[in-house]
Amino acid sequence: MPEIFFIDVTNRDGVQTAHFGLSKLEKTMVNMYLNEMGIFQAEFGFPTTNHESLYLQSNLELAKMGVLQPIRLGGWVRATAQDIETAFRLVPDIRHLNLSISTSDQMISGKFQGKKNREDIIQMMIDAVEAAKSHGAESIGVNAEDASRTNIDFLIEFALAAKEHGAHRLRYCDTLGYDNPFSIYKTIKTLAQNVGIALEIHCHNDLGMAVANSVAGAKGAIDGGQDAYINVTINGYGERAGNADSLSTALAVTKSKDFLEKYQLGKPIDLTRAWKVAKFASYAFAVPIPMNQPAVGANAFAHASGIHADGVLKNPENYELYDFTEVGRGETELVDTGREICSGQYSGISGFRHIMGQIAVHFKDSEEAREILELVRYANVETQKPLVEDELLFIAKYPQIAKKLLTLKPFE
Ligand SMILES: [Zn+2]
Repeated sequence: MPEIFFIDVTNRDGVQTAHFGLSKLEKTMVNMYLNEMGIFQAEFGFPTTNHESLYLQSNLELAKMGVLQPIRLGGWVRATAQDIETAFRLVPDIRHLNLSISTSDQMISGKFQGKKNREDIIQMMIDAVEAAKSHGAESIGVNAEDASRTNIDFLIEFALAAKEHGAHRLRYCDTLGYDNPFSIYKTIKTLAQNVGIALEIHCHNDLGMAVANSVAGAKGAIDGGQDAYINVTINGYGERAGNADSLSTALAVTKSKDFLEKYQLGKPIDLTRAWKVAKFASYAFAVPIPMNQPAVGANAFAHASGIHADGVLKNPENYELYDFTEVGRGETELVDTGREICSGQYSGISGFRHIMGQIAVHFKDSEEAREILELVRYANVETQKPLVEDELLFIAKYPQIAKKLLTLKPFE
């Protein structure tokens, strides 16, 4: 029986969103958390972008060290042979790629302005797949941008060509959030049956259906006999109205009515990490979690009205579909309401030693302490807000990696 896997695209779709952004250290922490949760793959960035190079390289180094394991780290590039060359020049160790090209007539005529036709699109994609293979790519996903507005016969032709040339997955991008659960189910099932390739389901939330469409699309892939790779982002962060929220999608797959009996996760996800991850992403992106966000919103387990409160007190299952501990809530959070010593780009050694002592990090000598402090100061230059405990621990544990992550060299 085919299965469902999760590909998180926070570090690609999330960070490219208007008004949103993460430092390279924060992107790395996201990858660490996704790995801890058991997410199959992180789309960890843009290998053709100069300022990403050292970050991507150092995360691949962490993978080699066994730290970022077993998560798979995949890059996003445009499907052109030239971009593949650049990607492997800047990040030689990259092994997993998604190659993206527009497939709808709207985008082909609207973006290429008559310079490309459908045949050209297929040829560009084939050239890119062949280039990626020749550079040693181990897994290749081919992204059909605006797939939901693409003629289905052309989409099948495009996907068959991708498969024939060695692509492992087709990413069906509902780029504008145009699908509904019925339409995406039908299209994905048709693709699975007619192409016979694993399908990635990439949904946006412009009509508020990203999660529902992701679940329906996954069902379509499996009913058509293929594995489903749902694209998600933490807290749903992504272009415009966002992508499918990873936690909501995981909950929908594992807890919605009768779904799990037939459709299973290929790799278990540890939802008890969800609360921490959602909170970190909210802090790092500086975007508050809405009160009514599923599972992690302030109201997700709050009950005020008489009938609800009475019912929950008698038995939580009366008004709660799952327990708060299942998503990692329930621990007491200590918030200092008095004096606070936190990290900053102008921190000194005394305050720094105090901060690190509180999280039980001790240095072998003052030279080591000063080195780590220097890295923390640089990290603060990038984040522009106090580092969280996990970031401080990361820097203290992997100073060489941190140094690489914090190095930005324009025009080199
Ligand atoms: Zn997208």
